[in-house]
Amino acid sequence: MTGTLFGVRRVAPTSVAITDKIYIKNHRQLSSQLETNIPKGAFKGATLDMLFQGDGLEKLDDATRDRVLDFTQDFLDCDCDNNPYCGCPERKFIQYLLELRAQGLGPDAIVDVMTDDYMVYAYPGDVLSFLDNGVRTLEAAEGLARVEGADEKYEQIRQAKRELER
Ligand SMILES: [Zn+2]
Repeated sequence: MTGTLFGVRRVAPTSVAITDKIYIKNHRQLSSQLETNIPKGAFKGATLDMLFQGDGLEKLDDATRDRVLDFTQDFLDCDCDNNPYCGCPERKFIQYLLELRAQGLGPDAIVDVMTDDYMVYAYPGDVLSFLDNGVRTLEAAEGLARVEGADEKYEQIRQAKRELER
């Protein structure tokens, strides 16, 4: 995936994006309430389409609908022409994960919070490797910034890395 991490271009994309490993909690229940089959992956095209168009959301129970709407408002609210395929939803979700990390949460707690907030989950091991990759990506960027003599950027990256490693 492309995009930015703390405003730093990702230098060496590694492994599958974490957003491909975010799943809908109670997926079968949700599908049956919606009377349609949606993919289990929260960021799969068909799921995003359903959320973006909001088809059938009135069929959901209140608690579920609130979380689905929160997800839509927080991650699918950009004005891009190709929304929801513009990459913003994934970028914003990654930002959300990094913010939870910056608050000092570990992988298990991060999963608990995303389930509370948006009724989605991931495997803690996947979150852990995402955080590890984040640190490695920032290390690579740090090295580049130093070579290029971009002091301000270097400081920015070091700061971001410290927050991730906390
Ligand atoms: Zn967008």
